Amino acid sequence: MPDCCIVGGGVIGLSIAREIAGRGRSVAVISRDTLRKSASWAAAGIFPAQPRDTLTDHNGSPIERLTQYSDRLHEQWTKSLLEETGINNGFRRCGSLAMATTKETVSQIQANEEKWKRLRVKHESLSPTDLSDIEPVLHGAVITRQVRKAFYLPDETQVRPPRHLAALRSACLSRGVEILDGHHVLDFEFDSNRIVAINTEDQNSTPRSIRGDQFCIAAGAWSEQLLQKLDIKLPTKPWRGQILLHKMEPGVLRHIINFGSGLDYMIPRDDGHLLIGSTIEDAGFDSSTTPASLCRMKKIACEVLPDVMAQEPTSSWAGLRPGSPDGLPTVGRIPSADNAWLATGHYRSGFHLSTGTALLISDSMCGIPTELPLDSFSTDREGLRRLTRSTK
Ligand SMILES: Cc1cc2nc3c(=O)[nH]c(=O)nc-3n(C[C@H](O)[C@H](O)[C@H](O)COP(=O)(O)OP(=O)(O)OC[C@H]3O[C@@H](n4cnc5c(N)ncnc54)[C@H](O)[C@@H]3O)c2cc1C
Repeated sequence: MPDCCIVGGGVIGLSIAREIAGRGRSVAVISRDTLRKSASWAAAGIFPAQPRDTLTDHNGSPIERLTQYSDRLHEQWTKSLLEETGINNGFRRCGSLAMATTKETVSQIQANEEKWKRLRVKHESLSPTDLSDIEPVLHGAVITRQVRKAFYLPDETQVRPPRHLAALRSACLSRGVEILDGHHVLDFEFDSNRIVAINTEDQNSTPRSIRGDQFCIAAGAWSEQLLQKLDIKLPTKPWRGQILLHKMEPGVLRHIINFGSGLDYMIPRDDGHLLIGSTIEDAGFDSSTTPASLCRMKKIACEVLPDVMAQEPTSSWAGLRPGSPDGLPTVGRIPSADNAWLATGHYRSGFHLSTGTALLISDSMCGIPTELPLDSFSTDREGLRRLTRSTK
């Protein structure tokens, strides 16, 4: 019987499993699908630039502090994952360019500038000449005045999600974590206020009961159905995001490009792959790509990189981000069971927030005081109560 059973084998479940196993506990990860079907595999892997000075509860909101806490852990995690597994997750501080190519995106970028100033995130306004110097491939877009406003953010970082997930899985296995893929968790068995087992079915519909001492639900966009079995009402709506992949010569584009508010972006990998994203769509649990969205994304990229974009894309995919009614993740204890925790609803930032979430959940499971207070992310937080009450 494992000490901890984690439901969900995406970046959140695997990060928690690795952390807890590293503290000497026995851990099982139970996952219904292969990694390719998770939001985590589909992610772009952008970690927005963070303030260099430590945020406190006086100058940063709870989510801003969780983001900075998580961001600071990634470099260390990258090093230790490489040592443990030999897998390089592609983490690098490549910096980004925030650009506006339309009137609408100029105002979005101005709103972002306010936030960077408030948080003291390092940023620099760029003239057209600066922009061409820093990213020569954009010279054409600069002279045809496609770019109306631009900023340079040197601290923006990227990671390659499939590689990071491969490293996490491998590290989990070498720390003795049992990973049970293809097991659909159906419900829970209780003994008074404690969960004693979870009931699963495998791909052949063979039932299995998995007993454990502590449990954590990290089932991404599918968490809501499981939580209903625990008397918790927590909408975790799936928000589809699509990505288009191109291949170009390595080094042609050096920085992440964020258009306007950052929903549309391009990410150059060091081997020349170029990811173009994304969409935010309410399409239920349908994780297919659509020609219209892929065409729109390609058009945006073509405005600034027409030559590179002349070729056919290499691939495309979509994933389902786990949404929440107030936009915040839920991280902490499950009130209806004495030995259960929850980590879900990370929406557009689950990769970035995975390290901090793993430490907070692991500390809480081990009875250690957490580095950040968990009340703002509890199932009982005021904003969430208000919103779920009004949707009843
Ligand atoms: C296109 C796109 C781009 C993104 N870009 C970024 C980015 O740049 N930066 C960033 O930080 N984040 C990004 N995200 C968001 C990020 O991917 C998610 O927030 C994160 O992956 C959520 O991880 P998760 O582990 O909670 O969920 P998932 O990765 O979806 O994992 C959920 C797991 O639960 C399992 N599961 C579900 N139900 C059951 C059940 N009943 N029984 C057993 N197992 C079950 C599934 O099989 C799966 O293994 C992006 C997402 C998308 C789609």
